[in-house]
Amino acid sequence: MTSRFVDPCLILFTQSSIKDAFQNGLSLEETACQLASKDTQKRDIQMMRVVEHTDGRAYSLDNRRLAVFRLLRLVGKCGKIKIMVIPKPDAEWRKKFDPSADHSKILVRGPRWIVGATRLDTTFPLDRIKAAMRDSVLVSDARVCSILEGMDSDDDAEDDEVLAGLRGRPARPKQAAKSAPRKKNASDQRRGDKSGGNLHFPDDLEPFAAGKSRYTYRCRVQRGCVMGFPEGSYLVLKAFKPGFANHQITSKDVAMQQEVARLAALFNDNVQPKQNQQPCLIYVRDAAIVSFARDVHKQSTGKVVLPRGESFLLEREIFGEFRKFNSNNGWATKTGGEIPQAFSHWTWAKYRKLVCDLQGYQGKPPGPKYLGSAYYYLFTDPAIMSIDGSYGLTDMGMRGIENWFSAHTCSGMCHALGITADRPVGRRTMSVESSSSYRETSNSYAPRALAPRNDLVFGLGSLREALQEELSDYDSDY
Ligand SMILES: [Zn+2]
Repeated sequence: MTSRFVDPCLILFTQSSIKDAFQNGLSLEETACQLASKDTQKRDIQMMRVVEHTDGRAYSLDNRRLAVFRLLRLVGKCGKIKIMVIPKPDAEWRKKFDPSADHSKILVRGPRWIVGATRLDTTFPLDRIKAAMRDSVLVSDARVCSILEGMDSDDDAEDDEVLAGLRGRPARPKQAAKSAPRKKNASDQRRGDKSGGNLHFPDDLEPFAAGKSRYTYRCRVQRGCVMGFPEGSYLVLKAFKPGFANHQITSKDVAMQQEVARLAALFNDNVQPKQNQQPCLIYVRDAAIVSFARDVHKQSTGKVVLPRGESFLLEREIFGEFRKFNSNNGWATKTGGEIPQAFSHWTWAKYRKLVCDLQGYQGKPPGPKYLGSAYYYLFTDPAIMSIDGSYGLTDMGMRGIENWFSAHTCSGMCHALGITADRPVGRRTMSVESSSSYRETSNSYAPRALAPRNDLVFGLGSLREALQEELSDYDSDY
């Protein structure tokens, strides 16, 4: 095993296509932006695994990671990168190496962009990555490290399935999670408003996932209830990213998610969706708004991560492989999305609201169950698009709805529901991609100065104590 410095554009891909996101939820573009916005040096970059093939050329086993390095190279943000040349791992090589691929470039599934070796053969948009270089925003060194760690495991279940499908071989069993696999996802039934406990944040407040607009932090309830979530509950806290500083999470976010949960319950009752002849119901996480009376700091740097008085969303964590099933601009997954796509179309046909941006976990054996069922969908952060555009940042009104339908192909399920004729004429006016689209301005997200005072502030003394505690036994779960 040796390491070497190489121009990433000279290393070849083993696969013909990659997913548009890493396992930590960051898209390729966002990962590149975050790396570009920080002056990452060669020594900071964890090594990519490269194999020398019998044709004498070097191939990467980490295709998404290579794609990100190439994007950075194409905007002049990195030169040579340090790679690790390893002996060919037979099983992984057989699984990954696609002899029919054009190894000099790779297709990003979903948006169908190409990452090539030069700007000329690259269709992946570079503007935001270039722009990110000029921003002095966002990430700490630790964050960069965690981004790179997230990039370390480059193959995932969907890749396995896709590749297996392409080559007629059974998919490799899914990799075991770091902690013991979860047996269930807690349900969102019955949550009072009892509070008084505190929240413990592991991982020194490093976000474990990032959407386009928000960071998500894991936490766990200690010493009593928090917002009705009982002691021991595994929760996530969502906060707007610094770039969205003039937006604030409000009760409208909670109400919108509850509205989607209500529509999902109607869909479950009326449609009775099934998977493998078993009921496969749709559930939506129920969020609460929380804020803190004092700033919450990152221990290692002292930086304020959760400013006092700011509102955050708090909800139960979703266990199982987190995936996106559709976005609000019409992108839809090719696998496992028939029920979510039909649900979106159905909400428009029946209620003239288009529920979309469906993301979360598709329950299937042997994954965690929900209320005893193995088959289900558990969503969070959905969007509603409405005729009058009244549902916030991700509601692009009729224009968004027409754009969504321009990319929607009715499935057998839409036909079975008799809704195929009930759709607006599709008009493509914005790009169709897996990440969400946003309105440029919104009057339904109150600016911070005008935000209603939130009376759900709870004392943070005990929280600070909890943060200062040595890693408790809870942390083994993270
Ligand atoms: Zn349809």
